[in-house]
This record gives sequence, structure tokens and C-alpha cells, in this order.
Amino acid sequence: MKREEFVKQLQITKEKKTKKEKKYNPKGKNILIGGAWPYANSSLHLGHLAALLPGDVLARYYRENGDNVVYVSGTDCHGTPITQRARKEGRSAKEISETYDREFSRTFRNMGFSYDLYGKTEDEYHKRAVQKMLQRMYDNGYIYEKQDRQPFCDHCNRFLADRELSLTCPACGAESKGDQCDCGYIPTEEDLDGATCVECGEKVHLRENRNLYLALSKLQPQIEQYFLQNSGRWRLNSRKETEKYLKEGLRDRAVTRDLDWGVDVPIEGYEDKKMYVWIEAVLGYVTMAQKYCAENGIDWKKFWKDSNSRIYMVHGKDNITFHSIILPSLLLAMDDNYKLPDMMVSSEYLNINSEKISKSKGNGITINDMIRDYDPDTVRYFLMANGPERKDSNFTVEDYITIHNSEITNKYGNLVNRTLNFKGLDHIPEGQMDPEIAERIEKAYQEVGDYIERAEFKKATLAIMDLVENGNKYYDDRKPWEQKRNDIEAFNDTIYTCANLIANLSNLYEPFMPNSSARIREYLGIDEPTWETIVVEPNTNIKNVQPLFTRIVKSKTQNKGKVKEDDERM
Ligand SMILES: [Zn+2]
Ligand SMILES: [Zn+2]
Repeated sequence: MKREEFVKQLQITKEKKTKKEKKYNPKGKNILIGGAWPYANSSLHLGHLAALLPGDVLARYYRENGDNVVYVSGTDCHGTPITQRARKEGRSAKEISETYDREFSRTFRNMGFSYDLYGKTEDEYHKRAVQKMLQRMYDNGYIYEKQDRQPFCDHCNRFLADRELSLTCPACGAESKGDQCDCGYIPTEEDLDGATCVECGEKVHLRENRNLYLALSKLQPQIEQYFLQNSGRWRLNSRKETEKYLKEGLRDRAVTRDLDWGVDVPIEGYEDKKMYVWIEAVLGYVTMAQKYCAENGIDWKKFWKDSNSRIYMVHGKDNITFHSIILPSLLLAMDDNYKLPDMMVSSEYLNINSEKISKSKGNGITINDMIRDYDPDTVRYFLMANGPERKDSNFTVEDYITIHNSEITNKYGNLVNRTLNFKGLDHIPEGQMDPEIAERIEKAYQEVGDYIERAEFKKATLAIMDLVENGNKYYDDRKPWEQKRNDIEAFNDTIYTCANLIANLSNLYEPFMPNSSARIREYLGIDEPTWETIVVEPNTNIKNVQPLFTRIVKSKTQNKGKVKEDDERM
């Protein structure tokens, strides 16, 4: 491609950029991305990261594309595990949840997550908004009152959640918690009569109680229709799991519980109860979008009530039905023209050293541990290129180091370094762009963009790496170290072509490795990442270019940390 054509493209790029400075681009698509809400009960580990990163990749990609993105998540503060722990530790539930909320915010920031709003369920805006929503579902007849029988401890003088009970499992004979035995058995109401209160050790008995229920059974036909229309685009695990529940038939679920920590129930007669976390936390995708839009003068309905918007739900496979059944049911129960989520991006599990991550084994590496020693960019890259996208995947520090050294540092880092750090070169020369490389760049935007939109991140990283390898081959073939002596014009073409390739790689890698992309932009004088071919201004000064990545020396791996429950060292 001729330089003049490139300069023309550059001007178009610049014009688009000025337009994009507005908060809302009427020509862009409206994209809502909901990242699963981490539970404020333990530090985030690499398994969480693997499940949540797709959200950030999507958000960064669509922003580069000029679309309007609202990317929200937050800390899930309520529920029994936190109140239980608070009682045990003599702290308040609020204190525990706030400690983790602060830690999560720092961890996400350190990992480069670009949430538009990361909130928490203790947020007053969220609480008021979900109360209004619950009231609406109640008025619409989808939430109704029901008498049920629940385990009550006379000694503690309160109703207990299933997980606060212990009993002998009727299926396998082992000691089991009341919510589910390790063997998979879920205790029935009769099993719980006479179970033991884990708090005080007294036997509990069933006692009449009154709760509000969500009429999921009534919504089954609508959810089935939603499933048929949308699940073709979902990951296979979401499709299978959701289908299983629909085949079994949806059962009504209690939305209130006897707790003193949570969101108040706005219905008369339920003042002493709280909402179940499962109902209020998933509605956080709506409340946080509303809050963010209100603060930025954007109409939130363009994201949640417009059939043309695109909604991604990003989570791990243990959370599928909350996103594929519960959230759509709540939105339908409001009967208020909500759009239902389009895409379920549900990751499989990440194993560590071939073992399932388990708190009791303490084998999950926390994110904070990981990035204390290693590069957040290549940790992100590793998890997107080798993560649990379609099947459980394995993480070892050794594998990570191999990818960091041999893929990223040796290929991508090397291309950048040997081009921009060429001995004696202090500016980008004027030159001709190699037409084949130019064409490959153009194609890569299309191909990689399609993969990302379909949540096929592994393929996306492969396609970009292909471009990197091609660049290195071009460099080797052209031998710029000889050209510099024999044919300065050819040398200029080589460096010019490679510099342009690098500029465009910084765009393509921005969703995956934002820190190194930002450094390239700084070196080459590029304002912001965009999802289209860009051109480097000749004569751009390139002094003081530092290597993007540093090789990791293997001995560092030997004292790798384990999960620490209260990791606040960052
Ligand atoms: Zn008790
Ligand atoms: Zn059992």
C-alpha cells in the first residue's frame, strides 16, 4: 500500500477519534457486559480470573470499535456464609464484606479490568432499586406468599439456612451439611427435621414459617421460548445446564429469608426478613447499569430495554442458571419491556497443577500472589489463550512461564524490540508499507473481531500470534541489519512496515494485554486504541524504547504461594 493511501486513512482515523470523544456515540452499537459478582468471603484466585477476564476483553474490544459499552459488576456482600463467618470471628458482616470489597477493587485494578462501574450490593442505589423491582414483581403476581416449614433452632432462637445444619447423609452415611452432601445428595425437608445446628450443636425442628416465593413454574413457557431463540449462540455448558433444568421443570423459589444482613423486603409483613442474595445480586447488572448511566447522562434503557442492544453475561460454570434462568425470569416477572441477555459466556473450571481448586486444599493461587511475581499482561494472555474456554484447563506456573518467555517475549516482544530499538535508529523513517503485511493487518481486524464477538478468545489470540510470526519472518527475510549498510531505502521500508505492524498489533492486543499496548502507543505517539488499521506518523521519535516484556528466570517459581483467606498485603 502506498504511503499516500495510508496518510488518507490516518486522516479518517483522526476524524473518527474526535467524534468518539463524546460519551455516547449514536452510530455505535449498545453493548451491556455483566461480569459475575464475586462473593465477599475469600480472596480472588486464578479460577475467578479465568472466568471473569472474557468480560474485560469484550469491553475493551467494543470500545475500540467505537461502540457504547456499559461494563458492570460488583461485590456480592450479603448472605449466610458471611454472617456465619462474622459470628465466628466476632466481626460484623459489614466489616467483612467491606474488607473484601476493597481488596477486590484493588485486584481488578491491578489486573487491568476496565469496569465502567464496579459497585457492591451494599450500595444504597442498588438496594433501593431492587426493592422497587421486587415490589413490581409482587404487584404483577409473580411473587406470592407461602407457608413453609423450616429448620428452627430453639437455642439460637432463629430459623436456619440449610448450610447452617449438619446431618448424617441418608445416601452415603457421611457427615454432611444441610444444603448438599459431597456425594451429591440434596437433603429433603424430612431429612432436615432433627439435624444439628452447626452453631450451637442443638437439634433443630421444623417450624411453620411464611416466605415470599418467585413463581418460576409460571414463567417456564416464556423461559423455554427465550432458550430456543438464544441458546444457539451460548457456550455448550450453558446450553446443556439450562436445558437440564427446563426438562426437570422450574420450581418456585423462596425470595425472602430470616437473616439480619441483606436488603430489606419492601412488602408489608416482611419487615423482619431480607431478600435472598440470589435474587438481588443478579439484578445488580441492571441497577449498576442504571447508576452508571444516570451519572453519565446516558439513557440506560438503550442497553436494557432496546431490542438492538447486545447483552453478554460472563461467569463460571457454577453460576450458569442464575444468568440463563433466574435473571431472565426476574426480568420477565417485572413485565416492563426488559431485553433478556443474548450471550452466556460461561467458563469451565481452571485446575491448578491438575487438581480442582478447593479452599480446604488451599491450592488455588490468588491473583494477588500471582501478580506480585509476574506480569499481569501475560497472566491475562495465558488465561485467554490457554484458559477453560470449552473444557476444564490446567494451570501450572511452569506452563505460564513457558508461554510468557517463548510466545510473548520471544515473538511479540522481540519484534517490537528489534524494530523500535534498532541500533542507531531514533525515529520512524519514511517508507513504503509492504502490501502483503498491510493486507494481513486489514484481515486480522475482521477475523479477530469476529472471534471476540463470538467469545472465541483462544482463536482470537492464535490469529494475532499468526500476524506476529509473519512479521518476524518478514523481518528475518529482509535482513534490515544488512539493508542498513547496502540499501537505505529498503531498510526504511522494512522499519516503516514493522513499525506499522507493531502499531496495529497494539490495537489487536489491547483487549488481551492492555499495559503493553499502552506502552507501544506511548512510543509511537498514538492517542488511543481503535479497531481499524492505523498508520504511524513518520519521523516519530523513538528514543528510550524499553523491552515490553522481561524473560522470567525459572528459579522464581519454587516458593509459589498458596491461597490465603485474608490477603490484604496489596
Ligand atoms: Zn443453634
Ligand atoms: Zn452423602
